[in-house]
Amino acid sequence: MSDGALTALQAIVGAPHVLTDPDTTARYLTDWTGRRTGRASAVVRPATTDQVSDVVKACAVHGLSICPQGGNTGLVGGSVPPDDDAPRIVLSTTRLSDVEAVDEIDRCIAVGAGVTVAEIARRAAKVGLTFGIDLASRDSATAGGIVATNAGGIHMIRHGDARAQVRGVEAVLADGTVLRRWKRVVKDNVGYDLPGLLAGSEGTLAVITRVLFALRTPAASSFVLVAALDAVPVAFDLLRGLENSGLRIEAAELMTSAGVELLHERGHRRPTEARARYYVLVEVAGPADLESLVVQTVSDVAGIVDTVGEPAPARALWEIREGHTGAIAASSTTVPVKLDVSLPRASMPQALESLAALGQAQTYDCRTIFFGHIGDGNIHLNYLDVPAPAQTELADAALQLVVDAGGSVSAEHGIGRDKVRWMSTRDPADVAAMKAIRAALDPHERLNPGVLW
Ligand SMILES: Cc1cc2nc3c(=O)[nH]c(=O)nc-3n(C[C@H](O)[C@H](O)[C@H](O)COP(=O)(O)OP(=O)(O)OC[C@H]3O[C@@H](n4cnc5c(N)ncnc54)[C@H](O)[C@@H]3O)c2cc1C
Repeated sequence: MSDGALTALQAIVGAPHVLTDPDTTARYLTDWTGRRTGRASAVVRPATTDQVSDVVKACAVHGLSICPQGGNTGLVGGSVPPDDDAPRIVLSTTRLSDVEAVDEIDRCIAVGAGVTVAEIARRAAKVGLTFGIDLASRDSATAGGIVATNAGGIHMIRHGDARAQVRGVEAVLADGTVLRRWKRVVKDNVGYDLPGLLAGSEGTLAVITRVLFALRTPAASSFVLVAALDAVPVAFDLLRGLENSGLRIEAAELMTSAGVELLHERGHRRPTEARARYYVLVEVAGPADLESLVVQTVSDVAGIVDTVGEPAPARALWEIREGHTGAIAASSTTVPVKLDVSLPRASMPQALESLAALGQAQTYDCRTIFFGHIGDGNIHLNYLDVPAPAQTELADAALQLVVDAGGSVSAEHGIGRDKVRWMSTRDPADVAAMKAIRAALDPHERLNPGVLW
């Protein structure tokens, strides 16, 4: 980076917040998986929307592109720059950390883009409300990050995705203009849904600096059930049965025996006494005496091998599910091939068989562990111990099986840099329209070039 660019950035955010020392910048340049390490001339940490705007303008003047970064928990390589020496900065949002008091009348909260999901949930809980997005990366994932990726998470089945939580957004466009769509009202159909457009834009349309999120009414009481079963359709029968009993599904998560055994080796309990091929964790809410309604429903569903249940929060049961990502990363001898996909319920059982068979068919020893938000049809495919040179071919073969089964190559993690070649699963006209939007808002492709396309 030129001295002029460095001086300009330091003048905007203060010298301590323009990081160039390799020891300090390292954690911003490697992604959560450890698969990608990129390069940047500096990591810049603005503290206000105006500073973000000035940083973006300075980058335009000095020919620097920008990789926006929140908590750096993204799993598709979009939060770190590529490994080349093109001039660029990482713009970290972690100092955009202001939180306004919860608006208890209109049930919303205004937060800086760098505020974590856990902090938003804490603020909501203090006034008896809840935040609709929850995910295992909650202590690091940020408001801006969950909107930029349109994150789903464990309560998507109940409250919808991150886009559905957004009432307003403040963001800086590629020319430094501050875009502010900020109304506390629930209904607001004046023109295009620009906040909705920024949701899922993965840092390619704007730097999100503040978000106004809706808050929800928490369930008065809820109950967590884990059912052991040997066939995926039984899980769908169980979910249907619970809903037909008047219960509301708050979360529905799939685990396999391979994942449960891995967690057991690492000190977690097995959820049920009997072992089975699959385990489904379901959190339900509803009228009083939840437990007897659940027990009655379970007895009506054929194919359930064993169950265990307890009133929420049932942390020990949830920890088995939430421990999967970390345990898989720690256990695999190579960086695991992680693919976040969704499948129609009708084709999921056969598709999961084919995806498991794909792992077994490799010439090297490959462990497969699948888990995910089965209520949304969202499965996280993990192939462990795959030698580095074989990873792309295996990932492509798995994603092709997903496409052939009528599914999506990205359920909730996005495209990032990892799945760019799979954008072609959208129709050409669809891709052209998306590119036209990008060209209109960022004609010089300064924001996260190489992400999405
Ligand atoms: C253990 C674990 C569990 C996870 N579980 C889930 C899950 O259940 N559901 C789910 O959807 N994801 C999950 N993820 C993935 C990840 O946590 C989400 O994608 C999350 O939304 C990323 O937020 P972040 O702040 O870390 O964003 P980052 O990783 O920093 O960035 C992600 C993308 O958003 C862009 N971005 C970030 N902030 C901004 C901003 N302010 N303005 C513009 N662009 C921005 C980046 O450029 C990048 O493209 C999980 C990850 C881990 C490690």
